[in-house]
Amino acid sequence: MNRETYAYSKTLMGTCVELILHESNDAVAEIVFKALQQLEDKLTVNQSNSEIMAINLAAGLNPVVVSSPVFALIEQAKKASLIKGSCFNLAIEPLVKLWKIGFNGKSVPSLDEIEQKRILTDPNLIHLNSDEQSVFLEKKGMGIDLGAIAKGYMADMVKLILQQHGIDNALINLGGNILAVGQSNCVEQYWRVGLKKPFATNDEIVGILKVKNKSVVTSGIYERYFEQNGRVYHHILNPLTGYPLDKEFISVSIISASSLEGDIYSTILYGKGLYESIDVLSKRSDLGAIFITRNNQIKLINVDDKTFELSDKTYQLKLN
Ligand code: ADP
Ligand code: MG
Repeated sequence: MNRETYAYSKTLMGTCVELILHESNDAVAEIVFKALQQLEDKLTVNQSNSEIMAINLAAGLNPVVVSSPVFALIEQAKKASLIKGSCFNLAIEPLVKLWKIGFNGKSVPSLDEIEQKRILTDPNLIHLNSDEQSVFLEKKGMGIDLGAIAKGYMADMVKLILQQHGIDNALINLGGNILAVGQSNCVEQYWRVGLKKPFATNDEIVGILKVKNKSVVTSGIYERYFEQNGRVYHHILNPLTGYPLDKEFISVSIISASSLEGDIYSTILYGKGLYESIDVLSKRSDLGAIFITRNNQIKLINVDDKTFELSDKTYQLKLN
C-alpha cells in the first residue's frame, strides 16, 4: 500500500489551508485552491466588493441578489440561528465589528455602544427570498457575519470537488477546520489529527484523534482574545448580552460527517456550556465532542478512547 503523502498549501482566509493527498496531483490542488479563493471573495467582510458586503451595505435599503452558494450558506446560517437556545447568530456582525476581537480590538466597548449594536442582531430581521435568491437586512446598521460557519461549508465543498476528480482519500485543513475524506493509506488506515494544546505558543498538542471520513472542528477561546484588567475577552459573542460568552471550558471540538454541521455545533455548544451540551449530545449520537476544561480535563462525549489518544499527561481524560 502506498504510504506516501503529498501536501499542498496556500494562505487563504487569513489562514494556512492545507490539502494532503496520497498521490501527486498539482492540477487538483490548483482547482481546490481556486474554488476556495472564489468563495472567499464572495463571503469576506474584509473587501468592499464581496457579496456579503453588498448585503451589509444595503441594510435598511434594499434586497440584494446573491449567487446560489452564498444564498445556500446564508439559509443554513439563519436556520442555525433560529434553533431554540442557540447562541449562533449570523446577524452578529455589528457586535463583531464593535469588539474587533482578533482584529486589534483591545478594550471593552461602552455599555451604550454594546446595546446599540445588540439590538441590530435579530436574525428574524434577515429576510430571504428563495425565488429571487435575494437577502434583505431590515434595519440600517445590520450585518451578516459567516465567520463561524464558512470554513465548515468550504471544507464540505472541497470534499465534493475532490470526489468529482476521483479522489476518495484526502485530508483538508482549513486553519484548524479539518475534514478527513475517506481513509488514510497510512497507519491503521485512519487519518491522525492533532488536538491543539490551548494557549500553547508553538504547535503543541494534547492528543491525537484517529478519524475516517469525518470532520473535526474546534471552537476555542485561546486563539483570538484580549485581556483587560485581568479578564479575558474572546471572540465568540453572546447575542443575548453583547459580551463574549464565558464558560467552564476552553474549547470544544466536534467530530461529525458534515463539516458545516460541525462548525455550527462547535459554536452552539460553546454557548451552551458543558452540562447543557452533554444533554444535547445525548440525543445526537452522530456528533462526537471533545471538551477541554479550564482545569485541564479532557471530556469525551460520544467519542471512545480508541478514537482519542491523550499524549499530554498534564491533562486528565474523562470518558462519557
Ligand atoms: P473559529 O473562528 O475559532 O473557528 P467559530 O467557528 O466559533 O471559531 O467562529 C467564531 C467567529 O464567528 C467569530 O470570529 C465571529 O466572526 C463570529 N461569531 C462570533 N460570535 C458569534 C455568534 N454568537 N454566532 C455566530 N457567529 C459568531
Ligand atoms: Mg464554528
